[in-house]
Amino acid sequence: MADFDFDLFTIGAGSGGVAASRRAGAYGARVAICERGRVGGTCVLRGCVPKKLLVMGAHFAEELEDARGFGWTIEGARLDWGALIAAKDRELERLEGVYHRLLRDSGVALVEGRATLVDAHTVEVAGRRYTAQNILLAAGGHPKLPDIPGREHVLTSDEALSLAELPARLVIVGGGFIGCELAGVFHAAGSQVTMLVRGDELLRGFDDDVRSALGLAYRDKGIRVVPDVLVEDVERRADGTLSVLAREDTFEADAVLFAIGRAPSTQGLGLDRVGVEVDAAGAIVVDGQSRTSVPSIFAVGDVTNRLNLTPVAIAEGRILVEMLYRGGDGVMEHVNVPAAVFSQPPVATVGCSEAVARRRHGDIDVYATSFRPMKHTLSGRHERMMMKLVVERATQKVVGVHVVGPDAPEIVQGFAVAVRLGATKQDLDRTIGIHPTAAEELVTMRDKRPDPVAIEDKT
Ligand code: NDP
Repeated sequence: MADFDFDLFTIGAGSGGVAASRRAGAYGARVAICERGRVGGTCVLRGCVPKKLLVMGAHFAEELEDARGFGWTIEGARLDWGALIAAKDRELERLEGVYHRLLRDSGVALVEGRATLVDAHTVEVAGRRYTAQNILLAAGGHPKLPDIPGREHVLTSDEALSLAELPARLVIVGGGFIGCELAGVFHAAGSQVTMLVRGDELLRGFDDDVRSALGLAYRDKGIRVVPDVLVEDVERRADGTLSVLAREDTFEADAVLFAIGRAPSTQGLGLDRVGVEVDAAGAIVVDGQSRTSVPSIFAVGDVTNRLNLTPVAIAEGRILVEMLYRGGDGVMEHVNVPAAVFSQPPVATVGCSEAVARRRHGDIDVYATSFRPMKHTLSGRHERMMMKLVVERATQKVVGVHVVGPDAPEIVQGFAVAVRLGATKQDLDRTIGIHPTAAEELVTMRDKRPDPVAIEDKT
């Protein structure tokens, strides 16, 4: 081991790479981390953190409206978008500084530049070679762009999170995590938002009740959601505005955002040269212990395209380091991972949707409720909250929890522990609610939905 410059050389200083490197450093390993841009990665610089700050900033629009029903008079309130973006950027700079300090404090050397693999134990950065017992690939991902004419005119989330001016009319293509989150931000901030989705509804893959609840909430707010649209062209007009052309429709816009998924950032890493296998989507293929096809090279996070969520990348990185330096088994379970969409209202979920549960667990019991949150009895807002439990009938284990409404992510984080521990519906029934909250509904649901078959029998 002493023949190598480092014990671990990490490529990519995002959430997964930094978490793994810091923990390895804390365990006494000699660690270097290489970054070609700013330290922090997608989550801190171009994803979760700036997005959530903008969600919070824009959401005041609704809070201010809602306050009227509680007796407040608020006149002249307006959003200075530029000030919000500047405040967000200051916070990102602060966080970048924190990341630098954390790496330094863990004894991790920062190597700046673009890294390329030379062999199973060697990396080259800016003409200099570094050797390491193990190499960790944590290079993350980047937004996909469509293969259509006019793609040079469109924004991705990278630019949308830093737009200097608020577009009057924004067309968003894609109804997944990013499309829904940024639609909420720009609508609340004052843009006229149109979402173009190629399927029938937002958030494909989520529970159907979640999808229809968010679709309804967005349409009620005035976000235009247009299903079954495949964009073919984006044209810039002489006056600078954009036309989004689909087969049967044209949508006019001042800005167009594509949020159609992300791709692993594997280009230029030299994977071919050392024989690291990638799949058809360009993601690095790893086994259950995050090991690539080259035994000394590992990969975690979005570059592996397993479950592209920050806490998953962090967990993958830490579990790997526990294996390398503490004898852990290195196995990360990608099950019952809670997730949230910071739309307005937000969505949060853990476990499986009703449709997946029917396939995976056979007979299931479904409990669902939709109600007006207490706040809106005075605010007058029409928005409803949706909660749903999916229960395996034979064992009564709760296998899915889905919430759409205020604080959904904060609520579901706690229920994720219960699902992980195998809680049954009866465990939830025996849990006393906190009153008055919305979350207490999840422990007081009594009425099962009729089975779909039973409904068919009656007709
Ligand atoms: P998603 O995969 O979530 O959604 C992509 C959307 O684009 C879907 O509606 C999809 O439609 C549509 N789409 C895909 N290809 C095309 C195409 N060629 N033309 C038109 N529409 C298309 O990707 P996002 O970009 O929204 O987010 C990327 C990932 O980043 C997420 O999956 C998630 O892992 C992560 N993320 C997590 C967040 C969080 O945890 N809160 C927030 C933001 C991102 P269809 O459904 O029909 O395939």
